[in-house]
Amino acid sequence: MTGDGRGDAGPVRVIDVSAPLADGLPAWPGDVPFRRVVTESHDAGDGCEVSHVTTTLHAGTHVDAPRHFGAGAPAVDELDPLLFLGPCRLVRVDVPPRDLVRPEHLEGVLDAPRVLVATGTLPDPDREFSRDFAALAPETVEALAEAGVRLVGIDAPSVDPFDSEDLPVHHALVRHGIVAIEGLRLAGVAPGRYDLVAVPLRIAGADASPVRALLLPPGTIRLS
Ligand SMILES: [Zn+2]
Repeated sequence: MTGDGRGDAGPVRVIDVSAPLADGLPAWPGDVPFRRVVTESHDAGDGCEVSHVTTTLHAGTHVDAPRHFGAGAPAVDELDPLLFLGPCRLVRVDVPPRDLVRPEHLEGVLDAPRVLVATGTLPDPDREFSRDFAALAPETVEALAEAGVRLVGIDAPSVDPFDSEDLPVHHALVRHGIVAIEGLRLAGVAPGRYDLVAVPLRIAGADASPVRALLLPPGTIRLS
């Protein structure tokens, strides 16, 4: 989805790279799927519309806080919001399903503090959970850390492979203080430089939060 936001500087092209949060959005097997319940509605003659949701915090496009895998590690509300605002690099890698994104895939392009990796290995992520997504190799986290990357995003529902038990990538990210955004929707988005906006909700003490992830033209966000 794209749209035009109009500010003082004129129209800005906005690319929405987040999953729509709607009933039917697949959750990780065994986790609580997103569901919205309307308790008051205009159709029913109520004066207003009121709804609530039940959902895993790992629904659709979401930030994993270090707390997710590190006992005592920062929760989502303790992360610096500026991590989620600013220059990023979108990289499209050619990996088969179930394979790993390795350091060589990212050679020469780790030139931004935020890196988003498009694997293209999920055929229909808004309607069907696939176990065959490509994930990151643990060595890739070392390469990201060496390059000064603070945030890594991926179009897969996890940075580790589906059947990983010891979750080495999650742990390596926590060790290096790199936060992860999982479940990005990057199909059809051109690789290159952008500014990212993907701030998590301030959910106290939480392991994760859904985010609205947007790509803006590079240089749109000026924080200093
Ligand atoms: Zn997650």
